[in-house]
Amino acid sequence: MTYQPLALAHGPVNQDRIAEAADFADRILAPNAEAWDKGEASPETALRDAISRFAGTAVPRDLGGFGDGVATQVRIYEELARRDMGFTCALAVHTNVTVAISVSPNVALRDAVLPRLLSGKAVGAFLLTEPGAGSDATAITTHAQPVDGGYAVTGRKAWVTNGLYADIFAAFCQTDPGSGARGVAALGFARTTPGLTVEPALDLIGSTAMGTTDLTFDAAFAPEQAVAFAPGTAFKAAMYGIDVARLGVAAMCNGAAMGAMDRALAYAADRQTFGRALIDHQGMQWILSDAATAIEASRSLTFQAARHFETGRPDATLTAHAKKLATRSGFDTISQAMRALGANGLKRGHGLARQLAAVRVSECMDGTGEIMNVVIGRSLKAQA
Ligand SMILES: Cc1cc2nc3c(=O)[nH]c(=O)nc-3n(C[C@H](O)[C@H](O)[C@H](O)COP(=O)(O)OP(=O)(O)OC[C@H]3O[C@@H](n4cnc5c(N)ncnc54)[C@H](O)[C@@H]3O)c2cc1C
Repeated sequence: MTYQPLALAHGPVNQDRIAEAADFADRILAPNAEAWDKGEASPETALRDAISRFAGTAVPRDLGGFGDGVATQVRIYEELARRDMGFTCALAVHTNVTVAISVSPNVALRDAVLPRLLSGKAVGAFLLTEPGAGSDATAITTHAQPVDGGYAVTGRKAWVTNGLYADIFAAFCQTDPGSGARGVAALGFARTTPGLTVEPALDLIGSTAMGTTDLTFDAAFAPEQAVAFAPGTAFKAAMYGIDVARLGVAAMCNGAAMGAMDRALAYAADRQTFGRALIDHQGMQWILSDAATAIEASRSLTFQAARHFETGRPDATLTAHAKKLATRSGFDTISQAMRALGANGLKRGHGLARQLAAVRVSECMDGTGEIMNVVIGRSLKAQA
């Protein structure tokens, strides 16, 4: 059974490619998600396949993308995360790197790397966070020492999504210690770069498919040609990329919530208690009605934020509202769906525990709920 949310006026979308995402989710994600989550199988082949189909959604056609725009991207994330949020997070981080490279002023680098990122020949990773710098990204200390012909990079990056699979690492490094955001540059590294060491996968409560690792640089050389964003521009590019990523997280949480409703409705239609189907008990209808209201509110806000990206004027405050609401309401909706399934909701086979953990993990990605409140609070203070 498929839960049908209300239709939203989100502007033009490519329905064929959204249908392709729903089909991919049913054929590839649904049957494999539990094994990926338990670490019993690797999602890498499926990830490269998904990249070739979906990573170019918002990349312009003249650069090799599909040029379908942000609203289509949001709908695709919904359909994929409906079946497996962790896998979709891996795809989204790669897609964000791809979009960032597509707007790099280093055209030679863009032309060399973008086709591989769009085809899935290369998987991308985004390295901003460090063991000592998470919410406050200006505090990064990984040092890019200027040397003849480029930079020698030394330091440690943490929480590298796709660390297990990535071929290209986009690393934000400090070229001028003490200069804060102004000294930050974005440098591209191949996995095979001497001095770059990817560490083993982190053992998390969920989203194992994201292949998240830590990573060290020990005098790893990045030539001038690998500078994707120079000092003075890189931090701004990182913050724009994080806004794009927050929108994606919101979309995925909404999708995971809709997937939980798929399960809950199917179960409530089938399961009999006290002589009637669960769905015929008003108390159960009220639980599911509240969940549906939460989904509608969250999707409305997410597509409102998406429209601003579509028109080239992203609104960081609106996006922060969307990400905060979607991560919270997604968690609550999945939890309520588990309630509808009773004890059966606790069995891994229904996928609800996996999705609940993945939504909780996503609350930490691209800025926590508190950091969304920092962004929102800043705009409130400006009005006071
Ligand atoms: C699975 C996963 C994948 C990730 N992938 C990537 C990736 O690919 N690339 C990347 O660069 N990063 C990645 N991250 C890192 C993520 O962006 C950080 O975890 C996040 O920014 C929070 O940083 P932190 O964990 O260091 O928390 P901290 O900054 O140490 O914060 C700790 C707690 O304090 C709160 N807090 C911090 N500052 C304030 C404040 N001013 N006011 C109130 N409360 C505050 C936070 O909300 C949090 O609850 C990933 C994280 C996870 C969990």
